[in-house]
Amino acid sequence: MGAVGLDGTKELISGHLGILRDYAKKVLVGQGTLDMGEEAEKERRIQELFTVASSLGLTMKETVVLLYKPLFIKPACECSTCRFRRGSWS
Ligand SMILES: [Zn+2]
Repeated sequence: MGAVGLDGTKELISGHLGILRDYAKKVLVGQGTLDMGEEAEKERRIQELFTVASSLGLTMKETVVLLYKPLFIKPACECSTCRFRRGSWS
């Protein structure tokens, strides 16, 4: 199916996305700020995420949307009607 190495890339990206979203939630939920170690880790992961994403043809803006959009949208309804409307019926 996909290109060679794509699985590894997807895992790398989803690892970064998960941790970066956790950091964002921590700040957004008002639990305070990231400490210096977390801030440095966040920067490192964002840089690597941008690098990998751009190699896949994503712009920086698209990457930011990919990263943070799920934090601002309600979870999709999983009833059969909504799934059918979304076209994600499977
Ligand atoms: Zn529904």
